[in-house]
Amino acid sequence: MKVVYLDHAATTSIDKNIFQAMKPYLLENYGNPSESHLMGMKAKKAIEDSRIVISKYLNCDPGEIIFTSCATESINLSHKGLIAALSGNLKNKVHIITSSIEHKAVLETCRRLEQNNLAEITYLPVDEYGMINIDDIEKSIKENTALVSIMYVNNEVGTIQPLAEIGKMLKKNNKQRAANSQRRIYFHTDATQAMSCLNCDVNFLRVDLLSFSGHKINAPKGIGALYIKKGTPMFRQQDGGGQEFNFRSGTENVAFIAGLGEAIKNISKNKNEIKKIEILSDQLISQVLKISGTIMTGHPKIRAPHISSFVIKDIEGEALVLRLSDKGIMSSSGSACTSHSLSPSHVLTAMGISPVLAHGSVRFSLGKENTEEEIKYLAKILPKEIEKIRKMAPKL
Ligand SMILES: *Cc1c(COP(=O)(O)O)cnc(C)c1O
Repeated sequence: MKVVYLDHAATTSIDKNIFQAMKPYLLENYGNPSESHLMGMKAKKAIEDSRIVISKYLNCDPGEIIFTSCATESINLSHKGLIAALSGNLKNKVHIITSSIEHKAVLETCRRLEQNNLAEITYLPVDEYGMINIDDIEKSIKENTALVSIMYVNNEVGTIQPLAEIGKMLKKNNKQRAANSQRRIYFHTDATQAMSCLNCDVNFLRVDLLSFSGHKINAPKGIGALYIKKGTPMFRQQDGGGQEFNFRSGTENVAFIAGLGEAIKNISKNKNEIKKIEILSDQLISQVLKISGTIMTGHPKIRAPHISSFVIKDIEGEALVLRLSDKGIMSSSGSACTSHSLSPSHVLTAMGISPVLAHGSVRFSLGKENTEEEIKYLAKILPKEIEKIRKMAPKL
């Protein structure tokens, strides 16, 4: 059976040239980068070369990039590390502003800080399109606000948040705060879904912290990075040999770090692929919307090119995913991390979609290897499978 993979927001395949870039560090050049012999030096160079590639892409210094195991680890280090560094000289609990539609990596990290009595959190609402209102952020700022954490692209519905505008607003606020000798507010973004398709220049976005994962951009699972702007208070969350500028001890994952650098090179080289994905997504959306009772979720225009998501009346999204899977089509209902639970997506419910309708959610996320034929195949299969489910199930 032919496989049509439409779940690139969950994970991607490893590009051949990325695998080739990694291979030498798994087989011949396996030296420990902390050692001073030739093999150690070669490994060290692979790490530093990758750091340079990534820093150029983000428009920052190589010394501001920390390699981690994934976006989740980057986010944990960012938030817990910042709060740990700040809380030493604080009388009040730190205040964090985030959104109600963040990935669980952000939401659960915030919840942990809340539970441990280290922070109070404001979870901002979003509008029907999953968009955050900048005024809401500004109005939520308090004396003790230390961190604003807003995702760049939502992984379930694809809505793009106005990060640069938020950055501008925070800069203005920080100026005032400095004049009143108040502490600065730091700005983090989870850019995991944006790395392949949007401008991630940290100066353009005015972020102090940025997290992402390799496996969403055709590098392997198990590698990620965190950008930490110089001067940002940060306390390591892992003690040991002092690797990664003492922010993240443990012998470096040399091969995967090399792979991550190669993934960023691929993105820079193949900018035209985004356009192709966008065209395919448009075709997919118009095909799906032809089916009765389908509603697109997320912002109609301000959306990432690779994510199209829908709610479909009178079906269970999970049932549809399984039926499509039987036909070789890989899709998703809700996010991978939450789809095993029966509660409807926190993103869709935050957007005001009823829990019943939210259960009928399905997401198709495209990658550069998808073709027009595959979209046509989906367009042929999807209406039939929806019809079958509707015939079988009692009306919700
Ligand atoms: C996938 C994803 C994450 C988590 O990435 P891991 O590699 O599982 O740590 C975080 N945020 C967003 C927006 C994602 O899409």
